[in-house]
Amino acid sequence: MGPGRKPVLAGNWKMFKTGAEAAAFARELRPRVSMIHDAEIVVCPPFTALSAALQALTGSNVQVGAQDVYWEAEGAFTGEVSAPMLKEAGCRWVIVGHSERRQLFGETDEAVARKAAAALGAGLSPIVCVGETLAEREAARTLDVVGRQIRTGLGGLSEEQMAGLVVAYEPVWAIGTGKVATPTQAEEVHQAIRSLVREIHGAPAAGALRILYGGSVKAGNVAELMSQPDVDGALVGGASLSAESFAAIVRWRG
Ligand code: PEP
Repeated sequence: MGPGRKPVLAGNWKMFKTGAEAAAFARELRPRVSMIHDAEIVVCPPFTALSAALQALTGSNVQVGAQDVYWEAEGAFTGEVSAPMLKEAGCRWVIVGHSERRQLFGETDEAVARKAAAALGAGLSPIVCVGETLAEREAARTLDVVGRQIRTGLGGLSEEQMAGLVVAYEPVWAIGTGKVATPTQAEEVHQAIRSLVREIHGAPAAGALRILYGGSVKAGNVAELMSQPDVDGALVGGASLSAESFAAIVRWRG
């Protein structure tokens, strides 16, 4: 974790939890994290549970985000949800370019760029996900792939827009597999992302950018990851589904 960067601990629930389950989760989580003021805490339920989660978290230090967004504000785009709609619903954050969206739903780097810009335009903070597959890592292409994702996804944004987003480095081979990147592997890519952002957007934007790690983060490995200078938080899938385990991650300082 670097100086001056407030950590972000975000839970990606994926396609889990109904509204009733989200409200129950919120009631369990609130007292477990109410003492944490030196980190931003975010949960990202499915669209249908956003309202229940928001209601149950009103007045708490836990913020709510969506898992995806479409770049048009409104129109004939059946099944999609826009950034102004998420903002009006009470969301502060939105995940963009998660590897499951890229792999299962054909999301491209160009789509990620449009979604990130639309989210920022509506006053949401995008969590822009990047990361290599196992085959790409084994072919020593990690930095090329992540570099391309960052250049295309964020290259067109202004320095001011960069201040409103966070990046999540999520190696695809570590997501939902129990195989976590070593702190050294994570730090190497986080450093490369920060250098690239410095090159594109300048030193102040790079220095302020929060880069989260994601991929099998648990209470038992989060502290070691967070001890790396360029790891500024975590995007958590499986371990964010239980209030107890997510709270333990949020309270990684002990
Ligand atoms: C994720 O879905 O973003 C993720 C990192 O999942 P998990 O923590 O389960 O690997």
